[in-house]
Amino acid sequence: MSNPPTILNVALPVPLRRTFDYFAPKQGHTSTCIGCRVRVKFGSQTLVGIITSISDTSEYELSKLKEAEEILDETPCIPPELLDLCLWGAKYYHHALGEVLNTALPKRFREGLHIPVITGYQLTQEGKGLSENALKRAKKQQQLVTYLLQNHQASAQELKEQGISHSIINTLLEKHIIQETHLITAPTSSDKKILNEPPLPLTNEQEAALLQIRFHHYCTYVLEGATGSGKTEVFLQATERCLRADKQVLVLIPEIGLSTQTVSRFRRRFSGSIEVLHSNISDLKRAQAWQAAREGNAQVIIGTRLATMTPFKDLGLIIVDEEHDLSYKQQDGFRYSARDLAIVRANKNNIPIILGSATPSLETLHNAIQGKYELLRLTKRAGEAKPPKIQLADLRGQQLTGGLSSQTLEAVQKHLNNANQVLVFLNRRGYAPSLLCHQCGWTASCRSCDAKLTLHQTPFHLHCHHCDFQCRVPHTCPSCHSPSLVHSGLGTEQLEEALKETFPRIPVFRVDRDTTQTVKGFSVILAKVNEGKPCILVGTQMLAKGHHLSKLTLVVIADADQGLFSADFRSTERLAQQIVQVAGRAGRENEQGEVIIQSHSPDHPTFKELLTKGYHRFARKLIEERSHNHLPPIWNLTTIKAESKRAENAIELLEFVRTRAMAIAPPSQKLNYLGPIPAPIEKVNDRFRYYLQIKTLSHETKSRLLTELLKEIDQNALAKRTRWSIDVDSYEN
Ligand code: ADP
Ligand code: ZN
Ligand code: ZN
Repeated sequence: MSNPPTILNVALPVPLRRTFDYFAPKQGHTSTCIGCRVRVKFGSQTLVGIITSISDTSEYELSKLKEAEEILDETPCIPPELLDLCLWGAKYYHHALGEVLNTALPKRFREGLHIPVITGYQLTQEGKGLSENALKRAKKQQQLVTYLLQNHQASAQELKEQGISHSIINTLLEKHIIQETHLITAPTSSDKKILNEPPLPLTNEQEAALLQIRFHHYCTYVLEGATGSGKTEVFLQATERCLRADKQVLVLIPEIGLSTQTVSRFRRRFSGSIEVLHSNISDLKRAQAWQAAREGNAQVIIGTRLATMTPFKDLGLIIVDEEHDLSYKQQDGFRYSARDLAIVRANKNNIPIILGSATPSLETLHNAIQGKYELLRLTKRAGEAKPPKIQLADLRGQQLTGGLSSQTLEAVQKHLNNANQVLVFLNRRGYAPSLLCHQCGWTASCRSCDAKLTLHQTPFHLHCHHCDFQCRVPHTCPSCHSPSLVHSGLGTEQLEEALKETFPRIPVFRVDRDTTQTVKGFSVILAKVNEGKPCILVGTQMLAKGHHLSKLTLVVIADADQGLFSADFRSTERLAQQIVQVAGRAGRENEQGEVIIQSHSPDHPTFKELLTKGYHRFARKLIEERSHNHLPPIWNLTTIKAESKRAENAIELLEFVRTRAMAIAPPSQKLNYLGPIPAPIEKVNDRFRYYLQIKTLSHETKSRLLTELLKEIDQNALAKRTRWSIDVDSYEN
């Protein structure tokens, strides 16, 4: 009797919500191959997938199954704990498992490659036993032996830097004094020293917060502390606790800009290996960091959302800094929230997770209020710093220079005179958000999007911020040929220009996506600012995030009205977070900070309530309002999106989806449907985008409905021809 066949269930990088069965290859199969990569034929392609389980039966006809070509790993590339997390993610977000795993894996591993092994050299037994002057007459050979005695191993490159050539290496190889070896990239130091610098003595509040954290159990802690209240110090000391217990720590940070500062603070504090993972590092580096974490050779991983799915040998703590930040939500492909996935991971591992923010998201606050999360608050600024003074500047009827009132400019002058630095915040890059004809009213708009073109000065051109279309600026109106083209509205370039004219002797630095294409560009500016001389920074939200600029004493929010009248139900929350975050940049050390909020609606209740009650109470009130309006965080919001060159196709598909959904789960007090509605910008890149929103009060209702519904959509002919996606806990509306 023959043995039953071994069948591998394989998740492949294709957008199908299922796994595929293959016979195990006859060669090289081990019983512990779950989580290993496998190369298989899929149609005419060869793909690399992950083995998710093994069985001896298949629901498909055995004669139709193919044999997998090769299992690529000896030990699981995706360890069981991470595989389990990915399975959870695929189920919760109703996304294809193969694509979830692909999001987790560095490209190199996705392509079936390994990390190249670097060949190095070490002494043989013979070499170690050489008497001290055995090589006395061959100086270079002696130098090589001494170097290897001190450093254990070395690469050819390293030896070259020591002035040791290949021929010397070859001679000693022939004499069996040294031998080739595989270099270990990140050796765990046998030296148990954990700290590079002493920790700061904690304030009472910091100490109370740290004492609350139980290190051997799952709990989500919300560390809500004003900017500058010392959250990072709490993170550092919590990390220290874990490292002392020989456990690893994952630190998540928002997408842009921040990484350098957080990383350097961790590196300064700890002597262990700290690896960094974000989209701006090379794929090889990412793969190496990934491997170092999996093998326990990296003690701390600091990374952006993609680091959430890093494998660890023994993870002891997760930290999510600036947890309210939007960049934690992936907006395409596998649309997950890194913060939420991190919480699930902590729960599965039974370890603590700390969410830090001066302005926690309403989702997080709601969970804290419900008692699901534990709230830790830091109310005072650490060290000497006092909270900044905030005032509203009424722009109505004022003479403006580059969008700034004379009162604002006077304040800027005053702070510069005191040898301090000033930040002017405006969340709109470019020179002006529109170009229009004064004669006939024509406006420059994108041919492919429902959007105006932004005027840029450096270089001079028109630019669509949605599809990246760029063109020259016309001399005359394309519609009536009048030469009176005027720009309207304010962008960061214009602010920069106005400030340079008004303060000709003061350096003005602009920080936005156009001036900081690279992390490096940003660090150069930061380094200049950190010299501490008076200067003005003009910037978009990149500057609103956790930077510590010690000489910054005045923050101006040039246009706070943007967020007041938006159709997005989250805009008030965002505006409040932005104001508090930007304001938090002012006066982080000894000097009193000041904040000026410019507005044409200074009497708007949002300002009044935020400024009198503070963020926390303001946010609690917003949660109540959301509850009345059947919105998150109390209700679940799922958006099904469709887009097509023909609007009718997108609408028709979503109408089908709505009809089927209503048949599965009719609207009720706890479930409602909205749509198909056009996306806030209906046309982008010549494609029409429509949304169907499903709101439910219970997670289970949503989950059951979506599971049923997706089976039907996956079968639908129009769905096969139309681009569509599902966004669970969506942030767009
Ligand atoms: P946050 O992360 O909340 O913005 P930080 O941890 O960056 O705050 O702290 C703000 C400033 O206060 C930093 O300069 C930090 O070195 C200092 N600081 C933090 N904790 C302490 C402490 N316990 N004693 C003295 N200074 C502190
Ligand atoms: Zn015109
Ligand atoms: Zn466009």
